[in-house]
Amino acid sequence: MTSTIRAACVIGWPVAHSRSPLIHNYWLKRYGIDGEYRREAVPPEQFAAFVRSLAARGYVGANVTLPHKEAALALAEPDERARAVGAANTLWFDRILRATNTDVEGFLDNLDACAPDWDRNVGQAVVLGAGGAARAVVYGLIGRGVERVVVANRTLDRGQALRQRFGQRVRALGWDERNAVLADSQLLVNTTTLGMAGQPDLALDVGRLPNDAVVADLIYVPLATKLLRAAQAGGLRTADGLGMLLYQARRGFALWFGTTPETTPELRALIEADISSAR
Ligand code: NAP
Repeated sequence: MTSTIRAACVIGWPVAHSRSPLIHNYWLKRYGIDGEYRREAVPPEQFAAFVRSLAARGYVGANVTLPHKEAALALAEPDERARAVGAANTLWFDRILRATNTDVEGFLDNLDACAPDWDRNVGQAVVLGAGGAARAVVYGLIGRGVERVVVANRTLDRGQALRQRFGQRVRALGWDERNAVLADSQLLVNTTTLGMAGQPDLALDVGRLPNDAVVADLIYVPLATKLLRAAQAGGLRTADGLGMLLYQARRGFALWFGTTPETTPELRALIEADISSAR
């Protein structure tokens, strides 16, 4: 590739469903930047070679999505955040190839935007799930001073691994105990795949949460999950997965193209329309 335009990509397997090209190409157009953002479908056995050839392929950086987020850590110099979370979703060149994890700020910035002051009196947060996204969420919550983070997960070992990684402020619970801790929790975050289109529903007694609780769901297909709709019907503040997706994209764009972009209502409407038309 000999083109002089700046190019970045999202690397995944599969990658066709990724909304990142829509987001970044919208920003490139909006800010008048001569750049391009593409999808790269790369199977796990070719991932390392692909990342090593990023510059030769003309890329200034990349997003990394499933199933490559953990493998990316070993192929670039991770910052403190990516190392702590144990996964990277953004790669960029700064003399050498560097890696970070922007899911952390995506989650927190969206929560700040949707429920300002959410962290003023969170004694306890409940995180449902203990996968890769949960690691970013728990790291972010602890960084913002949440005293206790209860992780309820179907596989108890994975919740316990989060306690080992992030320390005594994390408590691991069995999946069947999730409803019992809601009354004492000011924040609930769903990081499981339950409630996603094509997946089973998330069974949860949202009515047990305190009246001033905030509910966040990382899922963005559908846009309004049953969890979020139940929380809104109960008068609780909510933060949705699309907001997180948009906020997490900002830093990669700034690193690759030199401009910190805004998450505008117009951009949100564009992605909402794409998600709705795909269903
Ligand atoms: P993951 O590592 O595969 O974790 C999936 C989690 O869901 C695990 O805790 C798993 O429990 C749980 N789970 C799956 N099926 C379940 C069931 N039938 N009953 C109970 N628990 C079940 O996935 P991930 O990368 O963390 O992603 C999780 C979700 O977050 C996905 O929906 C993803 O799209 C979303 N996400 C959104 C954003 C955003 O920007 N909005 C960013 C990242 C991720 P076990 O440990 O027992 O298997």
